Amino acid sequence: MEQETVLDLFRKSGALLEGHFRLSSGLHSDRYLQSALVLQYPEFAEALGHALAERNRHLQATVVLSPALGGIVIGQEVGRALGVRAVFVERQDGAMTLRRGFGLAPSDRVLVVEDVITTGGSAREVIEVLRALGNKPLAVGGIVNRSGGNPFEKDGLPLFALADVEVKQWKPAECPLCKAGGRAVKPGSRGAGAALPATGGGRA
Ligand code: ZN
Repeated sequence: MEQETVLDLFRKSGALLEGHFRLSSGLHSDRYLQSALVLQYPEFAEALGHALAERNRHLQATVVLSPALGGIVIGQEVGRALGVRAVFVERQDGAMTLRRGFGLAPSDRVLVVEDVITTGGSAREVIEVLRALGNKPLAVGGIVNRSGGNPFEKDGLPLFALADVEVKQWKPAECPLCKAGGRAVKPGSRGAGAALPATGGGRA
């Protein structure tokens, strides 16, 4: 699946907005990504999971492991496409933990799957859980990589992503979109809807 095809699915479902946004962090940005909005459509989730599975099939994973909540849906779809188990870690008392009777052996060939790699923080916590179990994952897979590189290089892990998306963020006082006279809107508000193109139309 080409990067533009992936981004078209995001745009169609409102999961990728382009414009001028005021984020909950207080920062302004030129794009807003909410992968749950594309994954709410089972046919899109299945297509993305299948595409991600194809990138990783050569690794012969025996299990897919994702961080809750963001990674669960795409992890399930990658597991389905590969024909292997899909399990997840979740936060308990602040720490990512394997619960619910999910089992992983040191011999399991684990593929870590995340929806969006921003800084790689949640996937790194998954890697730490695996290390504590005496397991080294094969690779990290994500639908979108926002990190501008491979945050797992120093862990010796390849990163497979279907699309690379740069989301620029600024403090309001330094926002060039504000300086150009624009007004930031909250993503999902009426103003933000206008920023969503009616069709994908090849905009990067
Ligand atoms: Zn601004």
